[in-house]
Amino acid sequence: MEEMGQPKFRAIQLAQWLYGHHASSYDDMTNLPKSLREELAASHPLSALSLIDKQVSQDGTRKYVFSCEDGHRVETVAMPATSAQKDGERLTVCFSTQVGCAMGCAFCATGHEGFARNLSVGEMVDQILSAQEDMGQRVSNVVAMGQGEPFLNYDAVLAALRIVNHPKLLKIGARRITVSTCGILPGIELLSQEPEQFTLAVSLHAARQPIRDILMPHMENQPLSKLKKELQNYIRKTDRRVTLEYLLIDGINDGEEDLAALTSFCAGLLAHVNLLPLNAVASSYFQPSSPQTMHFWQSELERRHIETTVRKSRGSDIAGACGQLKNMLSSNKLDNEDH
Ligand code: SAH
Ligand code: SF4
Repeated sequence: MEEMGQPKFRAIQLAQWLYGHHASSYDDMTNLPKSLREELAASHPLSALSLIDKQVSQDGTRKYVFSCEDGHRVETVAMPATSAQKDGERLTVCFSTQVGCAMGCAFCATGHEGFARNLSVGEMVDQILSAQEDMGQRVSNVVAMGQGEPFLNYDAVLAALRIVNHPKLLKIGARRITVSTCGILPGIELLSQEPEQFTLAVSLHAARQPIRDILMPHMENQPLSKLKKELQNYIRKTDRRVTLEYLLIDGINDGEEDLAALTSFCAGLLAHVNLLPLNAVASSYFQPSSPQTMHFWQSELERRHIETTVRKSRGSDIAGACGQLKNMLSSNKLDNEDH
């Protein structure tokens, strides 16, 4: 607006149309002068995501595949509260930050797909607004935990989170906004310097270096010892707890030694461990650990005073894991009648 010689208040008016009302045309923005609307339409044409596919799980989770203007596809997941949670107000949207991902994690369908490009701020917010409209309910929580590595698209992700958090736009409290990273050290440091109280989650998945190197091969040069130091720095600066995500994979990272390594990684860290069941990805060798193993880990960690949650997989009947649905669509493995 400044560049166009407009007063400052026009910027928030425009943002409210785009991100508050999810307007798809400048013509709708009736409190902007007609000449400005015409100028904007010519200089900054609006583009929107289009819905390609939607799957509805038995637990109420909905998974969307959207097409970007250039034909690339992204996934978004909306998770309402389960009946056990008894929190009808809760609606969590998990959005993607990149098309594909360069990190190549061995267990991840997105990792197998490789990296195509970063998503723009608008493409990220559009996923959240489109899911909100489809669910007919206000989004209460947002997680940057879909496809892609948020800290490899840092500036755009932060700008999107600020729109989500803004008191005149999506109005979602910073503590209800989570960013999940595979452990990109410069990103953790940058986040520690931001004024907002966003929640940080780190995909740990192994606390033994050789196992982590197998599961997350591109993280080799950002080892666990440095990760721990960076997390200690983050906690010291922000006084906030960090979530450690740990996918339990049968026979790979779920043994006694792995548990001992996780316990020692958590020592001196203000951390909360989230134990997650692996969603088996087609043609992958990895299988989830048994529920008994998960509960054994939970009780052992809690016995050592490490706060631990066992998370249920949501939407596993609709190709819940990151990247799965899109890959199934592109290989035509989904039956259209199920949609
Ligand atoms: N790149 C970021 C955020 C996107 S991945 C990160 O890695 O944290 C989001 C989460 O999905 C991560 O915790 C990731 O480890 C997990 N994930 C990937 N593949 C999975 C699978 N097959 N089953 C269950 N979770 C998976
Ligand atoms: Fe990328 Fe996260 Fe998947 Fe790893 S788990 S490949 S970092 S999206």
